Amino acid sequence: MVDFIGIERVQQLVARRGPARFMEELAGEIEADFLRWGEFDKSARHATHSPVGVIELMPACDGRLYSFKYVNGHPKNTAVGLLTVTAFGVLADVETGYPLLLSELTLTTALRTAATSALAARRLARPNSGVMALIGNGAQSEFQTIAFHHMLGIREVRLYDTDPAATDKLERNLAGARLNGLRVVRCASTAAAVQGADIVTTVTADKRNAVILTPQMVAPGMHLNAVGGDCPGKTELHPDILRRPEARVVVEFEPQSRIEGEIQQLEAGFPVTELAAVLAGRAPGRVGERDVTIFDSVGFALEDFASLRYLRRIHHEQHGAHRQIDIVPDLEDPKDLFALLAAAPAATAAPARALA
Ligand code: NAD
Repeated sequence: MVDFIGIERVQQLVARRGPARFMEELAGEIEADFLRWGEFDKSARHATHSPVGVIELMPACDGRLYSFKYVNGHPKNTAVGLLTVTAFGVLADVETGYPLLLSELTLTTALRTAATSALAARRLARPNSGVMALIGNGAQSEFQTIAFHHMLGIREVRLYDTDPAATDKLERNLAGARLNGLRVVRCASTAAAVQGADIVTTVTADKRNAVILTPQMVAPGMHLNAVGGDCPGKTELHPDILRRPEARVVVEFEPQSRIEGEIQQLEAGFPVTELAAVLAGRAPGRVGERDVTIFDSVGFALEDFASLRYLRRIHHEQHGAHRQIDIVPDLEDPKDLFALLAAAPAATAAPARALA
């Protein structure tokens, strides 16, 4: 039997701590894994593109545990009532190859993405940052707001989305979340939202090289948390922002970010720093007050590895329904797989149509 964590269980696990504390704890787990960067077998994710979206497989392994995530990105999905991003994943034991956990990762991806953004911003944004612009108010946006409010002390969030209904939803959810001392300001354009912000989070979905931020919008000292550009041909920043002399670009796993990140727009040798090096103090994050720091986030498998590890631990620690599922056979004689068919439970005969 294999542990199973579905949506309902993640809802319980998050409710117990509250989303802010959950993301802070998760950020700690992600940081701990980034700090043992050298122990991981790392590879760029395997992406299968179609004209409307992408389906990706993301593996990571530390020699003891192995994980993978299945995740999609389909920006047009919301128009037909479906999520842009859904995901699930597996954690397995390297010694036997047996899966230990099958988990939902749709909610968890939003939690881990915001946790990673805040983790990076703690090293890259100016320490006194109080105002964040949030461009793109869809599924990820509440998570980003709560993580930055809780972990960075953001006091004002300035919202803009091309879809006013998305901003309505975000305003409603933030009011419901009762975030102490957070001022929510609705803006008429990206330029208006960004004006005077210390941090700008872009988390839009569009399958093209969009220009969400232009060089004129970016002021010295800003930190840009660029989350929505995460596929070849899908970016959010004008390339001249990255080329500014005071810009410092931080990525998760350079070989993957060269293909998928904002830096896909630049020449191969353009200098970037990996987040692991910044977290370990091997490379500087922000050097000066006027640096424009850019976290060019695409999402890396190690963040999902840490999330699955964390979910499994708290799933066992916390009371509630510990569900397991039978996706691996349990045999008396491991060479007698056929015994499972011989002992098959009688199934009600299904009509031929349903079997087709
Ligand atoms: P979503 O579809 O729920 O929300 C995206 C929002 O962006 C929508 O409300 C849309 O109206 C808005 N938008 C599109 N173009 C815009 C523009 N030009 N200006 C302002 N708003 C605009 O999607 P989501 O689940 O919130 O994901 C957002 C993005 O983040 C996606 O591109 C997704 O692939 C990416 N993502 C990245 C990571 C990561 O680790 N870096 C993780 C999860 C999702």
